[in-house]
Amino acid sequence: MATDKVSEEYGSLLFTDKDMQERLPKPTYKKLMQVIKEGAPLDIDIANEVAHAMKEWALEKGATHYTHWFQPLTGITSEKHDSFISPNGDGSVLMTFSGKELVQGEPDASSFPSGGLRATFEARGYTVWDPTSPAFIKDEVLCIPTAFISYTGEALDKKTPLLRSEVALEKQAKRLLALFGQKPHRVYTTIGPEQEYFLIKEEDYQARPDLILTGRTLFGCEPAKGQELEEHYFGAIRPTVNEFMKELDDELWKLGIPAKTKHNEVAPSQHELAPIFERGSLAIDDNLLTMEKMKLIASHHGLVCLQHEKPFDYVNGSGKHNNWSLCADNKNLLEPGDDPQDNLQFLVFLACLVAAVDDHADLLRMSVASAGNDHRLGANEAPPAIISVFLGDALTPIVEALVKKEQPEAHDRESIDLGVPQLPEVLRDNTDRNRTSPFAFTGNKFEFRMCGSQQNLSDPNVILNTAVAEQCERFVDYVADRADEDFTTVAMRFVRHTFRDHQRILFDGNGYSEEWEAEAARRGLPNLKTTPDALPAMVKPENIKFFEKYGVLSETEVHARYVAKAEQYAKLLNIEANTMVYMTRHMYLPALFDYSGDIATSVATKAELGIDAKAEKKMVSVLTDGINAISDAVDDLEAKNAQAKGLEDPQAADDCYRDVVIPAMTALRTAVDDMEKVCGHDYWPVPSYNKMLFYV
Ligand code: ADP
Ligand code: MG
Repeated sequence: MATDKVSEEYGSLLFTDKDMQERLPKPTYKKLMQVIKEGAPLDIDIANEVAHAMKEWALEKGATHYTHWFQPLTGITSEKHDSFISPNGDGSVLMTFSGKELVQGEPDASSFPSGGLRATFEARGYTVWDPTSPAFIKDEVLCIPTAFISYTGEALDKKTPLLRSEVALEKQAKRLLALFGQKPHRVYTTIGPEQEYFLIKEEDYQARPDLILTGRTLFGCEPAKGQELEEHYFGAIRPTVNEFMKELDDELWKLGIPAKTKHNEVAPSQHELAPIFERGSLAIDDNLLTMEKMKLIASHHGLVCLQHEKPFDYVNGSGKHNNWSLCADNKNLLEPGDDPQDNLQFLVFLACLVAAVDDHADLLRMSVASAGNDHRLGANEAPPAIISVFLGDALTPIVEALVKKEQPEAHDRESIDLGVPQLPEVLRDNTDRNRTSPFAFTGNKFEFRMCGSQQNLSDPNVILNTAVAEQCERFVDYVADRADEDFTTVAMRFVRHTFRDHQRILFDGNGYSEEWEAEAARRGLPNLKTTPDALPAMVKPENIKFFEKYGVLSETEVHARYVAKAEQYAKLLNIEANTMVYMTRHMYLPALFDYSGDIATSVATKAELGIDAKAEKKMVSVLTDGINAISDAVDDLEAKNAQAKGLEDPQAADDCYRDVVIPAMTALRTAVDDMEKVCGHDYWPVPSYNKMLFYV
């Protein structure tokens, strides 16, 4: 038995398999496992018994309420708390929780984004228990992970299509594996999401309406120091941050979230947390919970956790790396083994992945599109908006040889001679790292590196899972069409042809370079630079068919999601524009009036004394020019935002924000930032980058 505090408390707030086993009658537990592991239907008697056991467990842990925890199209999580109390009529209460309450809830769907679904359907919505994700306790509330659907059964959340895509992938991967004589019980994805974030002082946050209202700074001139000294990445963690990280680890561990790695990131005040990978949808639930806990726990330390993709200009923004693999009964299907060229099954899966990414590059790009992420992609800190695949030194020669119909040579893992006999021998990894590739093979998994830090990872994984399912099916069909040929020969040909036909997506060079952009254009790869460019991919007829074929999203659901995303972009930009106007009129201009007024007074006073205040005069004139520029720019932004707001069609509105409003926002920011550079410190109404980024 473990005696240390961490192993004792690990998972104590999670209703684990062990808890169920201990608390449920054996036959009930067995039936529940059939539901969880084999997708058997759930009957109400089982639900009643599980609900009872869950409630007893939760009460022992001090819970008073329960909630259906779900992920509407906002991407974040939602909850409504109901207490367990049930009055007896004599002034006393019983604590109750029924199977029906566990299985189904009825939130009003009309107050969540639905992309127009609620205009044609009833407002009523249902939350439905997802028994594959364990219940947990958060702030004395028993949280039950659920899917969220409309009265007529359309998915209104991020989780439902994810679960459907996992079903599709499992089905097709099993068919593929059967051809290799394998009959695994379960095939599932594994995801390890690396989460980046910033921590700043709460007092700085409170002083900046832009951070409060939009999560990012809309103004701020370049700090004297940025990330150029490269000292923050992996730097020693300062005490306040360390205290925060320790409390975060403790809380996550109690929830059974396997937080593993924590370190300082590239930008000042930026950090990262990486958990150990878990089964796909569970990893995403846990990532959402991690993000929520980060925000909450920061407040215990006088800090605010910023999860926006670009809180500060001039330094890196935050992403979330989606490490992804496929597993058959605990065996990683993307593990190449010592001789990948001989591992035919591995090569088939690898070929499927490469083809999946190439065929659906537009949808993958779409799946990470957001106003926040537009600031990162292609800005020399994250991969460009062009999707490509990096295979690395070990696999690239194999693929190249296969395409040329040559025999690939065995590639031994080399050892690196350090020239110091005392140091242990270092074995070179199968792949070097390529930080500039959006989709990189990293030894035994792929890392999709375009995702935004505040994004719900369901969207990219829905695309990835469905696209890989499609390729697995293509392999099965390919083999079936050649049933009279030798399987190995056919499978090898599939691999060779697939790599040959999708060579354009393979790129091992510098993804941040301009040459790559030109080269990608020559190769015909899509380069959808902004969210309004990327979103329409979703509703292309062939893509709707793709979603429908694998039962992931219906045509109605696809359209609704497109509209919801397009509306969200326009709404976010409208809020940013409004906030800029507000801050300019109420904070920056008054501050500059004061400062220039005080200097002008000084000029006049000195003139009375017969002194020519040359420097002050010059400054008054600089400030006056700056104030005029700001005044013109803010009027312009207001007019242009009104123009965009007047557009009803969501795509037209998004295009207008991109082409008309964003340039006006940039012009206003430049005008204000220019004045921050010359305005007296005591007059400037908000904390500067110099202060916010370096004083935690
Ligand atoms: P790096 O910073 O080099 O990308 P990290 O160690 O910070 O690496 O993160 C790697 C992430 O990948 C971790 O979350 C890890 O658990 C995850 N990972 C490792 N193996 C797999 C796998 N088979 N499937 C999914 N994720 C994986
Ligand atoms: Mg990474």
